[in-house]
Amino acid sequence: MLKKLILFDIDGTLLLTGNSNRQTLIDALITVYGTEGSARRHNFAGKMDSVIIYEVLKYAGLDDEHIAEKFTAVKHTYIDLLRKQLRPEDVVLMKGIPELLMELSEREDVVLGLLTGNFEGSGRHKLELPALNHFFPFGAFADDAHHRNDLPAIAVQRAHSLTGKRFRAEEVVIIGDTEHDINCAKTIQAKCVAVATGTYSAEQLGTHRPDALFDDFSDTENVVSCIVNI
Ligand SMILES: [Mg+2]
Repeated sequence: MLKKLILFDIDGTLLLTGNSNRQTLIDALITVYGTEGSARRHNFAGKMDSVIIYEVLKYAGLDDEHIAEKFTAVKHTYIDLLRKQLRPEDVVLMKGIPELLMELSEREDVVLGLLTGNFEGSGRHKLELPALNHFFPFGAFADDAHHRNDLPAIAVQRAHSLTGKRFRAEEVVIIGDTEHDINCAKTIQAKCVAVATGTYSAEQLGTHRPDALFDDFSDTENVVSCIVNI
C-alpha cells in the first residue's frame, strides 16, 4: 500500500552542474535580451528559473512587460543551449543519491516525483545525463506555476492521476537543500527533509526547522528509514 509521496528538488539535492547552468542562462539572456542583467552573481538557490529570469533582468532596468514579451523565447533558448552545452562531466551527483534512489524505487509503499524550480526541459536534461529520469515518472516544474509554493498541489494531483491515490499533506515528503524547499513543504503542512549538500549549511537550514536534516545522504539505510517513517 502506498504510504508516501516523495518529491525531490534537483539542484543541490540530487546533483550540481557547477557553473555550466549559470553560464548557459547568461548565454540565453544575452541572445534574447542583449543583457545578462545580474545573472553572474545572483543567488539562484531554491528559486524558480522563471523568477530568476525576471529578477536578473529587472536589475538591468528591464520592465515586466519587456521581459514577458520575450519570456517564451528565452526559456526555449536556455533549454536548447543547455542540451547543446551541458556535458556529462559537468553533472556531479550528490553523495549517496544513486543508492538512495535505487532503495526507494524498489519499495512498494512510496512513489517518487520531482518538485523543482527548473523548467521541465532543463530539469529533465540535467537528470538525463546521469540517467536518473526513470526514477521520476512525473514532476512539478517552473513551467507549471509562478510560485514554488503552488507546486506541491500540482505534484499531488499528478501523483493521483498516476497511482489513483490522493495523498494527504502529511503523506507528502519534500526533499530539498534550501529554505525555499522547507517553506514550500510548510505551506501545505507536508513533511520536509533538508540536506546540506547545496549552498546552505546544516546550521542555516536548521533555523528554518525542517522535519529532518542531513549533512548528506550517504547513510542510505538511515535516510530511507527517516523518509518513509517521517
Ligand atoms: Mg535546490
